[in-house]
Amino acid sequence: MPAEPAKFPAFEEWTRRLACPACLEALRPEAGRMVCAGCGRAYPVVDGIPVLIVERAEREGRIL
Ligand SMILES: [Zn+2]
Repeated sequence: MPAEPAKFPAFEEWTRRLACPACLEALRPEAGRMVCAGCGRAYPVVDGIPVLIVERAEREGRIL
């Protein structure tokens, strides 16, 4: 009997494990973006994939 193929966790599950590449705080999904709880950067989600590149992040009203 072949082994079960590896299952990817649901989107909500694995997004909870993502960290901000700028400050390593947790990210939360919000309005189609991933928003950092630490520095307030908002990373775009392109075709369902979070783009965790500091240069692509938008800043959310906080002084960095
Ligand atoms: Zn951050």
